[in-house]
Amino acid sequence: TYILAIESSCDDTSASVICNEQILSNIVANQEVHAKYGGVVPELASRAHQQNILPVVEMALKQANITKEQLNAIAFTQGPGLMGSLLVGTSFAKSMALALEIPLIAINHMQAHILAHFIDDANEQKPTFPFLCLTISGGHTQIVKINDYFNMEILGETIDDAVGEAYDKTAKILGLPYPGGPLIDKYAQTGEAVYTFSKPKVKEHHFSFSGLKTGILYFIQKQVKENPNFIEENLENICASVQNTIAEILMDKIKKAVKETGIKQIAIAGGVSANSEIRKRLTNAQKHFGWTSYIPKFEYTTDNAAMIAVTAYQKYRLGLFDDQSITANPRLKVTS
Ligand code: ATP
Ligand code: FE
Repeated sequence: TYILAIESSCDDTSASVICNEQILSNIVANQEVHAKYGGVVPELASRAHQQNILPVVEMALKQANITKEQLNAIAFTQGPGLMGSLLVGTSFAKSMALALEIPLIAINHMQAHILAHFIDDANEQKPTFPFLCLTISGGHTQIVKINDYFNMEILGETIDDAVGEAYDKTAKILGLPYPGGPLIDKYAQTGEAVYTFSKPKVKEHHFSFSGLKTGILYFIQKQVKENPNFIEENLENICASVQNTIAEILMDKIKKAVKETGIKQIAIAGGVSANSEIRKRLTNAQKHFGWTSYIPKFEYTTDNAAMIAVTAYQKYRLGLFDDQSITANPRLKVTS
């Protein structure tokens, strides 16, 4: 079974061809236009998707070494994401499925971040149901219990900012370009966590990151008043301290979820799961707490169409298809 999958929820245009659970191609076109604005500009994202989508799809087919006539289905990201961005992928996929007279499959982007763990080469070992997933991305921070491919429960989520946002906003305070998460991670490698930031007290399995961001802002403002070169002189240590605090907040919450559910299979997903500190702590947890940790390959952490493709393969197997009346949904929930 060959499926072409298209991802266009935010600022990356991506297309992938999958043969059963085996990824044959995964092309991602990043949009550089946003860096100078310090964040994603929706109108520019939508226009860039329109320019990128055809060449990206053609490249994905070429790299998979198949023609579009060999495809068995077309999948696309229905949501969540930016409306203008989602519309480009949705209408492209709908027209292509109509023209080729093959099934159309709508995919939930947040389910796909999690189900990326079922790509044949993503892990040596795939999770078995039920497992817990800490989804940490630019727009979401959730602990999800996965009962089956399309049966998920949110145990807890952020009540304000997502962890990716906390990274990106902190980077902005430090004068680093967007997206700042990978840069903070990089500088943290050579720094020491010498500063402490207070961790939020949030009930149950929920998260909060807006207070942390404010705490960091006040700390930096105060230090810069005393020493205008504070940031340049201590960048590595500041980054290591922020990274350490965020990793502690996340680990505290997963430990609590493990304790309450008794589930010791833990996966991470989403762009922030590329983070070295979180990956390290989750790997160590296998030894220390007897967990089985599932850590995705780097290429399947931030937005990519391979995760859409593998999710589509599971829907194809189950006969879950959509028709031409389907529309983009910017607010789709992981539980829907
Ligand atoms: P969502 O999936 O919630 O709709 P999104 O698709 O915009 O949001 P992703 O592409 O999954 O988000 O993740 C992007 C985020 O990941 C950005 O905030 C970026 O800074 C962050 N990120 C990427 N790499 C790292 C890293 N190594 N350390 C920390 N954060 C990182
Ligand atoms: Fe995403």
